[in-house]
Amino acid sequence: MERERHCLAVRDQKTLWHPYTQMKTANLPLPVVSAKGAKIHLEDQRSLIDAISSWWVNLHGHAHPYIAEAIAKQANKLEHVLFAGFTHEPAVSYAERLLPKLPGSMTKVFYSDNGSTAVESALKMAIGHQRRRSGEKLRVLCFQNSFHGDTFGAMASSGKNLFNKPFWSYLFRSTMIAPPLPGQEEKSFSMLQNALLEDDIFAFIYEPALLGAGGMKSYCLQAMNRMLSLIRKRDITLIADEVMTGFGRLGPLFASELMDVKPDILCLSKGISGGFLPFALTACNESIYSSFLSDDLQDALLHGHSYTANPLGCAAAIASLDLLLSPSCQQRRNHIRDRHRQFLKRWIGHARIQRIEALGTILVLEYKEESPLGYFSSFKEALSSHFLDRGILVRPLGSTLYIMPPYCISDDELDQIYSAIEETMESPCALFP
Ligand SMILES: *Cc1c(COP(=O)(O)O)cnc(C)c1O
Repeated sequence: MERERHCLAVRDQKTLWHPYTQMKTANLPLPVVSAKGAKIHLEDQRSLIDAISSWWVNLHGHAHPYIAEAIAKQANKLEHVLFAGFTHEPAVSYAERLLPKLPGSMTKVFYSDNGSTAVESALKMAIGHQRRRSGEKLRVLCFQNSFHGDTFGAMASSGKNLFNKPFWSYLFRSTMIAPPLPGQEEKSFSMLQNALLEDDIFAFIYEPALLGAGGMKSYCLQAMNRMLSLIRKRDITLIADEVMTGFGRLGPLFASELMDVKPDILCLSKGISGGFLPFALTACNESIYSSFLSDDLQDALLHGHSYTANPLGCAAAIASLDLLLSPSCQQRRNHIRDRHRQFLKRWIGHARIQRIEALGTILVLEYKEESPLGYFSSFKEALSSHFLDRGILVRPLGSTLYIMPPYCISDDELDQIYSAIEETMESPCALFP
């Protein structure tokens, strides 16, 4: 009894509500006491390999001393100050360093604090820009099964899907088209042509190279390019949501580098602070920015958050960028990519898998147990516990397993992950009764 009262998970249950969790049926949460490198250390002495970078945020490993120190230094100097009417060195330095590295001709950075707010800011930029040019337009164009966040604008611009079903009646208008997945390029293109018959689209928002939360499905890049250039011709604002793909996940620093047609607006979060702090930004080109210039405050971008440009977030982002741009980080990313490719070669065409892909540092494996419920299927629970039993943290999307490790992951840790995957291919296997 005494022990139970002190158990963190039990205390948690009395006061806390977790994200994307059915609190009635969920297992007790796993209490974490510390984390280092690619490992998460639990209260019960177990350690887990963080094979999903803690929901895609961690880049260089947990508790990286270089980033930790940069934050501590900044905290002792200036922890936060309002950003309306004030500025500070870390905010300016980060923008100066990042802008030249961004795809497109980005000239301005607008800070916020998470992926959803980065998307909200982008939507407001696009709405204001289009209103100035061609009057009010009410509709956003997006891909089916895309994911742009959980605030209302971000939900609306993800289109109607199972994640946001309870809120469908509350979302502004969107037109959804199929993403150009291999094999459905033509369907996708003709849906786009149809969508463009409507005249009230203010923006196209897209994850540049693949659907992330929508199943880690990569596009045919050529088809994507063709679509982007058609949309660009219609003077619709292009918003690239690189909240997941940014900072080298797919190989290049940003996935939009893979496309000839560059966005007008770019959203970044998740990996931006190396996984240390909630931080985000929306970058735009001069044409978007200048639409908001006038003598009237009403024409300004009427948006802001209390923690806009938080100096600690900026300091973490600068430190994380230092690490990211170092030659050894590039080597690590190439190495992870090569190892994924070797693994893929051995298993491609296996009877139990529908699809296996190596996308930069991300390995994706879709099992043939496709349930109509996808994300909500119980196969994914079985898959998660198979890995958890082997000391590996994964979070499959339905029957799709993906590995998105921090760049510091060791060969030995990768081997452990690969052999846990291999077990799922062997027969008999508990996952396939
Ligand atoms: C996670 C994600 C978001 C939302 O970011 P949050 O920080 O969770 O609000 C937006 N877009 C994409 C592509 C994402 O993967």
